[in-house]
Amino acid sequence: MSHDHDHHHPDPADPAIRTEAIEQLLVEKGLVTAERIEALIHQYEEEIGPLNGAQVVAKAWLDPEYRRRLLADGTAGIAELGFGGAQGERIVVVENTDTVHNLVVCTLCSCYPWPVLGLPPSWYKSPEYRARAVREPRAVLAEFGTTLADEVEIKVWDSSAEVRYFVLPQRPETVVGDTVDELAPFVSRDSMIGVRLVGAPQ
Ligand code: FE
Repeated sequence: MSHDHDHHHPDPADPAIRTEAIEQLLVEKGLVTAERIEALIHQYEEEIGPLNGAQVVAKAWLDPEYRRRLLADGTAGIAELGFGGAQGERIVVVENTDTVHNLVVCTLCSCYPWPVLGLPPSWYKSPEYRARAVREPRAVLAEFGTTLADEVEIKVWDSSAEVRYFVLPQRPETVVGDTVDELAPFVSRDSMIGVRLVGAPQ
């Protein structure tokens, strides 16, 4: 798989580089503190970003026709709900079933589907996760408190600048609701990366 990473060839148009430059400038001018920026980033990692993905999952749980379209073309299915853009040009949705569990990693850096998940958490970017998710996914999952039956096959997907993967988790019996708004709050960010199941404690 080719893995074309902008930041290996620094480009002033790269949003990451531009953002870093703006952050430095704002902090230097005393307009904002580094702590405030950290808090904002944290909010995008944990709350604002993953809400979009949670809506996609909830809709797929409720609407089999939507689910079919989403699995056939993730980018188009996600765009139906109004989400798309930078770092989400091509998203492939992989579905968890009783026999297959999907786990997403970027082995080279931190490729992540921004439009549906926001910013990647720091553990996702860590060398440990990137190496071990592929080598020993079952052990990594166990560390997140996710224990799967031995017969469940774990598929590991390597996100890149070309293709970013997004997990459609299973809906447990305990998750009750008839609308996207009722179901979305149950869908955690980690369940859409594949490190946890829906309904598991965070
Ligand atoms: Fe990457």
